[in-house]
Amino acid sequence: MANLTFGIIKPDAVRAGHTGSIIQRILDTGFKIRGLKLIHMTRQQGEGFYAVHRERPFFAGLVEFMSSGPCVVMALEKESAVKSWRDLMGATDPAKADEGTLRKEFGGSVGENAVHGSDSDENAAIEVSYFFSRLELV
Ligand code: UDP
Ligand code: MG
Repeated sequence: MANLTFGIIKPDAVRAGHTGSIIQRILDTGFKIRGLKLIHMTRQQGEGFYAVHRERPFFAGLVEFMSSGPCVVMALEKESAVKSWRDLMGATDPAKADEGTLRKEFGGSVGENAVHGSDSDENAAIEVSYFFSRLELV
């Protein structure tokens, strides 16, 4: 599904009240929202989602953060969705993110950086199906 990607409005951004602003930016960029829900990930769900990073030094902190409060998971459709969403998010480290990106505007640190986005079409399909059933996608 080359036109679908997966995104998260992370707990820091939800806590800070940025959910509405971020969704507006997503719509303004031309994405169609195919799935959207507020969830509070368990530690176990966070570990499963970020399993590729389990050997990294930041893994425990990342799982702790991602399960620290509600987040918004989204299935987003647009041409070249993976790249388009990563372009809108900006670099992982908000300090290095370009002007006008979501991480520049809403991210606080390399760990608490407001949003997640898939890095490939293959991972987008895996990540969408990790959080959404077929019935939840319109
Ligand atoms: N992360 C972190 N410290 C680091 C690198 C990454 O806490 O040094 C966190 C951060 O929340 C990041 C996530 O781990 O968004 C996944 O890292 P990745 O390298 O995949 O960055 P992304 O794809 O989110 O830009
Ligand atoms: Mg990544």
